Amino acid sequence: MRMAVFSDFDGTITLRDCNDALVDKYIGADRREAYDRLFRDGSGTLWEVLDTSMRACEVPLETAIQLLLGEVKIDPTFTTFHAWCAERDVPFSIVSAGLGEIIQAFMEQAGVAPPITANQAYRHDTHFGLVPVDRACPTGVDKAAVLRAAKAEGLYTVFVGDGFSDRLAAPEADLVYAKRDMALATYCVKRAIPFVPFERFSEVQTDLEARLAGT
Ligand SMILES: [Mg+2]
Repeated sequence: MRMAVFSDFDGTITLRDCNDALVDKYIGADRREAYDRLFRDGSGTLWEVLDTSMRACEVPLETAIQLLLGEVKIDPTFTTFHAWCAERDVPFSIVSAGLGEIIQAFMEQAGVAPPITANQAYRHDTHFGLVPVDRACPTGVDKAAVLRAAKAEGLYTVFVGDGFSDRLAAPEADLVYAKRDMALATYCVKRAIPFVPFERFSEVQTDLEARLAGT
């Protein structure tokens, strides 16, 4: 069966969440806690909270992207994994509740060009926000639907993630890699969803290699 890999971006490919980095820089870590609370107590969906916090940064998108490219690092083993997928003709794509424009900038910096399904930016001279792909979906991007569509095409779906926006996707995937000790791993344990814990994409690669070799 043909395999396809779908990966979250923030906290999975990056070592730090981009929105957290923006809020900490432009608003302050204490406000980040307030936004997290808004979201935890159910006052807002994830995309609404992301949009509100992005707008509150009060910087143009290009300024935010330049800051992020300097401050947020990607997993040093990610590009090797990306190349490994390409060599084996395994489709790799990113599915993210973050902004496609930000992800695109990181991928250009890394010299790779995977397909990206993500929310898009609302741009203004003085600020930016988030326009969801699907307003009715709490994360703006329905990752579960992306996986279901791939399965309907007969693909064996591999999902790599770390956090809240990945929770609904995990039960749909044939194989889940969840970042060690993060929200997705906790969720999978609670819901008895099988997963393989990982810290770096090199571990995902080693594990997939072993599975493909049938060991
Ligand atoms: Mg994430």
